[in-house]
Amino acid sequence: MRLTRFTDLALRVLMRLAVESTELPTTREVAATMEVPYTHTAKVVARLQHLGLVEARRGRGGGLALTPAGRAASVGGLVRDLEGDGDVVDCDGTVPCPLRGACVLRGALRRAQEAFFAALDPLTVDALVAAPTGPLLLGISGGNRSGSEGPATEGRMAD
Ligand code: SF4
Repeated sequence: MRLTRFTDLALRVLMRLAVESTELPTTREVAATMEVPYTHTAKVVARLQHLGLVEARRGRGGGLALTPAGRAASVGGLVRDLEGDGDVVDCDGTVPCPLRGACVLRGALRRAQEAFFAALDPLTVDALVAAPTGPLLLGISGGNRSGSEGPATEGRMAD
């Protein structure tokens, strides 16, 4: 099973926010760290805020932060939410498959899909940044904040 780019990016954003840094990152800084376009990252951040997993803090020291629910979130639950519950094969597409009414393979694929999600259920966002991932993330994040030090951090926005 292949995750959509949106889901993959959401997990990357959550991992970046799960590592503690001296300053909360902005959406632009997260995008730069992960080497993905700002517009994609902004859409993902908006969805994660809607899910209550990320919050934007304004003012001095402002930026994006993981909520307690975001830190404890199950990766399996999150992937289910973002991927939806559609079949891995489009049996009912524009030209429906003639086997779809009695297909053993279709049932097996559904079970395989559920097993995929279930394998991710015990994993939390917090657990994703255990070493070596967390230290690596901190290392590659530091360079992106060099232009945001000093007085300019007053009134800092989350984007
Ligand atoms: S063979 Fe089965 S799983 Fe494949 S498209 Fe047809 S109904 Fe769906």
